[in-house]
Amino acid sequence: MAHADEAAIFNKDEAKVNWHDKALWFVRQKRDKSAHNVQGWETLRDLASAIKANVLSNLDDYLIQFEENAKKNGVTVHWAADAEEHNKIVHSILQKTNVKKVVKSKSMLTEECHLNPYLEANGIEVVDTDLGERIVQLAEEPPSHIVLPAIHKTKEEVDVLFQEHLGTKPSNGDPQYLTNEARKHLRDKFLKADAAITGVNFAVAETGGFVVCTNEGNADMGAHLAKVHIACMGMEKLIPQEKHLGVFLRLLARSATGQPITTYSSHFNKPAKGTEMHIVIVDNGRTEQLSREDFRASLHCIRCGACMNTCPIYRRSGGHSYKATIPGPIGSILSPGKDLTKHSSLPFASTLCGSCSDVCPVKINIHEQLYKWRQIITKDVPQPVVKKTTLKMAGRVLASSKMYGIAGKSARFMLKHMPKFIIYSKLNAWGKARDLPEVKNSNFDEWYKNRQKK
Ligand code: SF4
Repeated sequence: MAHADEAAIFNKDEAKVNWHDKALWFVRQKRDKSAHNVQGWETLRDLASAIKANVLSNLDDYLIQFEENAKKNGVTVHWAADAEEHNKIVHSILQKTNVKKVVKSKSMLTEECHLNPYLEANGIEVVDTDLGERIVQLAEEPPSHIVLPAIHKTKEEVDVLFQEHLGTKPSNGDPQYLTNEARKHLRDKFLKADAAITGVNFAVAETGGFVVCTNEGNADMGAHLAKVHIACMGMEKLIPQEKHLGVFLRLLARSATGQPITTYSSHFNKPAKGTEMHIVIVDNGRTEQLSREDFRASLHCIRCGACMNTCPIYRRSGGHSYKATIPGPIGSILSPGKDLTKHSSLPFASTLCGSCSDVCPVKINIHEQLYKWRQIITKDVPQPVVKKTTLKMAGRVLASSKMYGIAGKSARFMLKHMPKFIIYSKLNAWGKARDLPEVKNSNFDEWYKNRQKK
């Protein structure tokens, strides 16, 4: 189904849509306040964008430098061309170390590679330990947001879910009680796990170390308790030097949730005595995206989620309506690069208002890239006949002021005299949820000419 059809399903529950919209707008406002409190915020954004552009232009060198330094630190580095290879590598590490229970902290890359079902099919228990991720895992749903994975769920829904899976008492959605219960449940999983899988927010080429940011400390808890730590990273996660972290860490938390810093920004450099540390560096379509000049800047993304929180379409259509691992504006640029036909409706899920580009901490020209995909899709992907014909006609009318005048006159006449049931029929998508504006007697041209005469 196209994005609009999926969004229509989410829109059936109006109260939930309003709540979802408000919750995300609240986060956007927190981001604004936090950003305005930093002197030189725009300079930071420029710096971040320039650093990422430098990384992408020299990616081969930085990757090799990172691998060399990580190896010197005693870390085993693996390379995966695609999701399948990534999953096989992770599984083989777990097999070799005889691991049966894994705790995982939030990693959009492992979602992208569908690691959980792969490991589960091979008899390994995988528990997501970020609270939001655990909620969607128990609900057997994918995350709907990259920072707030369960933002589509109300606390009452979580209450019911926990009663069913964790045996909690009904609490009318008491967040304190539910969080405490989740904490107890996860504590047990941490203590029994043999391996921990984490994502990577930033990998430092200069040192071979990497940084993982969480608000719950779950990555640290998992990695410090288990004998094996596997960190999975997209190959674009590199930054050249440790000093560059100062730029990105200041931008990431403020853009994501409005916090001055993520609660835990943990630096991992080498395995502790008696443990193993592995890094799996994954391509999975990133090289191809790098080769598309118009879209390569999309690889600057540091996954803060700000473009989702600000997008009027995302806020009112919900993350699941995108049917992609990364939803929202940035996902609508990344997904068509992977499967143009399947994701051809996504670049149209935008008003092109540019708010996403305005808030993006690494200054990705998101709305311009969405517009570029639209141009490619209308050429390369067969469009519905009705849409094609209507747009062709609209193009002719809009190209001629005479035809535009005649069309306007006829439309004004019809809207005034046609019965309401025809005007508000199935064909009028605009009129489904709102009244049409009051019809004037003349258009701007006529009004202006009359005014000049007077
Ligand atoms: S595109 Fe920009 S705003 Fe959106 S998630 Fe990535 S870094 Fe954040």
